[in-house]
Amino acid sequence: MGWVEVARFEIPDGWVVQAYRFARNHMLDLVKAVMDQRTAERSYGIAEAELTPALGWSLPSLRKIWNQRKEAVAPWWGENSKEAYNTGLDSLARSLDAWSKSRTGRRAGRPVGFPRFHSRRHRASVRFTTGTIRIEADRHHVTLPRLGVIRTHESTRKLARRLEAGTARILSVTVSRDSAGRWHASFQVVVQRAAGTLAVASRGVSLVGVDAGVKDLLVVASGDGNELDRVTAPRSLKSAQSRLRQLQRKGARQQGTYDPETKRRQVPSNRWRRTQSRIGKTHARAANIRRDALRKATTALAQQHQVITVETLNAAGMQSNGGARKKGLNRALADAALADIRRMLAYKTRWYGSVLVEADRWYPSSKLCSGCGSRKPRLLLSERAYACDTCGLIIDRDLNAAINLARLGQAHMLGETRPAGSGPVAGRGAVQETEPAPASAAAAGDAAGREASTPHRQPLGKTGTASPQGEAA
Ligand SMILES: [Zn+2]
Repeated sequence: MGWVEVARFEIPDGWVVQAYRFARNHMLDLVKAVMDQRTAERSYGIAEAELTPALGWSLPSLRKIWNQRKEAVAPWWGENSKEAYNTGLDSLARSLDAWSKSRTGRRAGRPVGFPRFHSRRHRASVRFTTGTIRIEADRHHVTLPRLGVIRTHESTRKLARRLEAGTARILSVTVSRDSAGRWHASFQVVVQRAAGTLAVASRGVSLVGVDAGVKDLLVVASGDGNELDRVTAPRSLKSAQSRLRQLQRKGARQQGTYDPETKRRQVPSNRWRRTQSRIGKTHARAANIRRDALRKATTALAQQHQVITVETLNAAGMQSNGGARKKGLNRALADAALADIRRMLAYKTRWYGSVLVEADRWYPSSKLCSGCGSRKPRLLLSERAYACDTCGLIIDRDLNAAINLARLGQAHMLGETRPAGSGPVAGRGAVQETEPAPASAAAAGDAAGREASTPHRQPLGKTGTASPQGEAA
């Protein structure tokens, strides 16, 4: 054996091996499906040129297809090192290549079969639970029973730090070989939660509300009004967002698909097309930065708290109001962050055994006063502070919303249907197809980003269609 590739050691255990296997199996499935499809089409007499296009088997093309699909088929992909997927795809590419060459007589030696799906059983592996198992101080060697000191491909830094701090203990190590002949050592460890976590837990804060904002990506608060965490947008995200605003203003001045004077469709200019393509790329870049920043934060949330309450994204409202253009970029960005947070928390709470409570979409978390429970008819997105006319409280708007959400979650867990000072019930429930939008927001371009969440006008549980006022404008 040349070297040992040591995977990441985050909880859940063995997840990297799983991710690797998943990527490989998923792509093998796809390759096979396309091949079967082509065989079937040939049998119907379809011309060779009109068959479903074959999938490329090279590592770059497998990687390209994987990158296009991973968000849909493995939303948790970002939790693992890229190496885990790459190893899986690399092994698949090699297997396919060997099979194809062997079949056409371009490979010497024993015939090579079609690649198989990886399951635990197919892997040559050995598990050590006793003997010397040690991570060496240089971060690049491990000592294993019978095998001695072995150099590792990836740095063992993360695990080593935890072991040195006494917050992790190795239970066992599994050494296995994948089909490409690479060796992996994966450590099963018990990890103690971070000291900060314990402090929080001992204070009894295990029930939190999370608000997604524009300026700050995420604000975490407890029901008793304490701000527990605030994740600010990285500088790179802010600059991507200001570039977006700049491009959108530019696009608005260019000749697009619609002529506002004649109110007719028109052929857009090349400049407009170019700007639109830049807008798309900048959006994608901003989304990547945002997700990276949110990954760590949502893991901490799911690990440290028992009940996490978030707002519900108003998907129907987003569509009917014309998305980012009509609602203002700020609202669109906050919605995108919220969508990411909810998606990540949905699987992370399952991993770590916590509970995700989703506030009903009519719950006006940002319009309620967390001090006295009174409610403002409207709050502009540009207003960064919530100032209560009733009790005089002045508080950061995101913190105010997060506190309200924490209390909603509390009430929900206690089985109350109506927490004090609020309207609706938590949880998925009533689904309404249309959203009554404030007339001004729908009519104007609304660059100011008027709060799009709707006045709470209907008792929950009653499904019905509220008249979409302003929609006609
Ligand atoms: Zn108040």
